[in-house]
Amino acid sequence: MGSITLSKVSKSFGEAKVIPSIDLEIQDGEFVVFVGPSGCGKSTLLRLIAGLEDVSGGQILIDGKDVTQKAPAQRGLAMVFQSYALYPHMSVRNNIAFPLKMAKVDKSVIDKKVRDAAGILNLTDYLERRPSQLSGGQRQRVAIGRAIVREPSAFLFDEPLSNLDAALRGTMRLEISELHNQLKTTMIYVTHDQIEAMTMADKIVVLNRGNIEQVGSPLELYSRPRNLFVAGFIGSPR
Ligand code: ADP
Ligand code: MG
Repeated sequence: MGSITLSKVSKSFGEAKVIPSIDLEIQDGEFVVFVGPSGCGKSTLLRLIAGLEDVSGGQILIDGKDVTQKAPAQRGLAMVFQSYALYPHMSVRNNIAFPLKMAKVDKSVIDKKVRDAAGILNLTDYLERRPSQLSGGQRQRVAIGRAIVREPSAFLFDEPLSNLDAALRGTMRLEISELHNQLKTTMIYVTHDQIEAMTMADKIVVLNRGNIEQVGSPLELYSRPRNLFVAGFIGSPR
């Protein structure tokens, strides 16, 4: 569970063709990074997969099933937003439990899932705190916990670390990679940061103006960039 196929997916906003046509195969369990400069369409592509935007054309398959017309909640995916999307007035426990409460899951099941997620994320001792009483890294883990309890077939991250400082970004990078090793669930991770792409990805998708320039492992892109754009982007930190 967790393969995602995009077939001729396109998106326009009014006259602007932000994504002309994308074909992409993501295998179950892969850690895929969408990387590219600001404005190239990374977030739009992720939102199309999540169902937060409607495609203008093409199809999206999850585990072989066409979900193109399905609502976000019916796709079995979890979007991890930046930590500032937490509810400030709720405890960590209630922030993590929120999607399950909305889905009217039994309290005993919710309690167990929150306990398990907190264990994985080292938040067990912080469940009764408010987000304001946590560090930036802990807050980001709560945002991830809220996704974990839904047991999604894939996690979608949109620049989750961009509002953290450099040292914390390094730590969180490792934590998210470790989480992937533990859960072995498909993850799609959007970033404009080449270091995140090179260190976290099984597969990197390099985007430029809504088109895929190249797809490959970090080593492939580094050693055999298909063109100057990829070489420049992967080669030079900016
Ligand atoms: P990235 O995440 O790579 O920075 P985005 O996907 O956010 O890029 O944006 C890609 C392009 O689509 C940009 O030119 C942006 O202005 C445009 N865009 C994104 N969302 C909308 C929208 N809701 N309405 C109009 N234009 C949009
Ligand atoms: Mg974006």
